[in-house]
Amino acid sequence: MIECKEICNLLSDLIDDELELNLEKEIRRHIYKCEKCSSSLNTFTKTLDLIHSIKSQPIPLKVHKKLWKVIYIETRHLKVKYGQKRRSLGKHR
Ligand SMILES: [Zn+2]
Repeated sequence: MIECKEICNLLSDLIDDELELNLEKEIRRHIYKCEKCSSSLNTFTKTLDLIHSIKSQPIPLKVHKKLWKVIYIETRHLKVKYGQKRRSLGKHR
């Protein structure tokens, strides 16, 4: 059974279509039933739409940081810190 915090970590992969089909199905099933995760996905999707809509111009770092802050705030009930994944990947270095 997949947990909310795992979903949160995988949202960007889900949107980028980088997940195994089985995992994707499981996540979509969870999101369908879970209000928290579906609102997180909504926030994520909306933010990405925003980014895509201004893609023709480079996004200033300040704006980029703000967007991630919004995502973090919107998903903080999941108690997941963005960048956690990256940190654990670099652990063995
Ligand atoms: Zn959930």
